[in-house]
Amino acid sequence: MTAGNVTMKNILVFLEQRNGIVKQASIEVWNGIQACAGSKPGNAKVFGIVAGPLEQGDLEGMLSGDGVVYHDADDDLALYNSENYIAVISELIDKESCSTLLFADTALSRDLAPRLSIRLQAALLSGCEPEQPLFKGICRRPVYSGRVIAVYSAQSDRTIYTLASTAGHPETLPEGKIVFKSYKKSYVTDLHPASIVRKVVLIQGRPDVAEARIIVAGGRGMGGRESFGMLEELAEVLGGAVGASRSVVDEGWRPHAEQIGQTGKAVAPALYIACGISGAVQHLAGIGAAGTVVAINNDPHAPIFTRADYGIVGDVHTVIPNIIGEFRDFLKKK
Ligand SMILES: Cc1cc2nc3c(=O)[nH]c(=O)nc-3n(C[C@H](O)[C@H](O)[C@H](O)COP(=O)(O)OP(=O)(O)OC[C@H]3O[C@@H](n4cnc5c(N)ncnc54)[C@H](O)[C@@H]3O)c2cc1C
Repeated sequence: MTAGNVTMKNILVFLEQRNGIVKQASIEVWNGIQACAGSKPGNAKVFGIVAGPLEQGDLEGMLSGDGVVYHDADDDLALYNSENYIAVISELIDKESCSTLLFADTALSRDLAPRLSIRLQAALLSGCEPEQPLFKGICRRPVYSGRVIAVYSAQSDRTIYTLASTAGHPETLPEGKIVFKSYKKSYVTDLHPASIVRKVVLIQGRPDVAEARIIVAGGRGMGGRESFGMLEELAEVLGGAVGASRSVVDEGWRPHAEQIGQTGKAVAPALYIACGISGAVQHLAGIGAAGTVVAINNDPHAPIFTRADYGIVGDVHTVIPNIIGEFRDFLKKK
């Protein structure tokens, strides 16, 4: 497919903001793509788009490599509205001759990407694992609760990917220059198929599990709602989030927003600490992209130990307070 006489090959990364702050998951998509710049076809350029407010003076320092980030600060874009977001993204895709559009796999992109794929006549590969050879139109994705990795390939000139995570967490990021440009979409729509009636903000002072670099998750082995106080404390010491297995959510000990697994959230932290979680396949489906996994369980045969890098066989009520103490001492000395 061509735009004018230019063969399309460039890449557009959607940098999703909420309240003016770009989501860490989107920043990781940008940096992940820059880290595999060596496999980009020809001289493909990387573009980004922030739709809505941007109140992050240090964003430039968080984005690696060379690229141009467009910012459309239109009030219409402050809150998600699919028609307005489609308008700005479609315009930029054409303007910069992009054949690849990348999203972090978030609740917003799960709504927006399929709509865009129809509007742009583009293939959509969703929930792709980060390591897949993106530029060859291939997407690897765990299916059947993570027991099988399916490989999908796009037969289209334009492809949209949503990336489950970039949990490769590239260690060396290419240096470069990021240029910020303001943008104003020309297309104005009065088509509002859905409007926001009420905005509910969850205030918990900690990152969402889907974005956290460190997660301390508890299962039924915690014994009750009140034991999660220990996990809150450990998460606070480490600057992480609290997660939960489905049994815990079903018991009503923790909110569904914290559930990890097949019917919860897929997470990609650098460190995952599983406390009193058996490691059922449906739970493991949500932590496939986690970096280091530590498991604490009093059953040495618990399946979670097959996924763990480090295992502690013991009672959570003894082990966790000890770990909290050790971390506090360690961080005090730093
Ligand atoms: C369609 C479907 C979808 C599902 N989706 C999900 C999902 O998204 N996420 C999810 O998590 N599950 C999901 N499940 C449920 C899943 O199959 C398991 O039932 C669930 O993950 C078990 O949760 P658990 O490990 O907390 O509890 P349990 O299986 O009861 O395990 C508790 C563990 O704690 C250990 N333990 C007990 N006491 C202590 C102690 N004092 N100290 C240390 N360890 C202790 C035990 O040895 C045990 O290993 C799904 C199931 C189905 C059928």
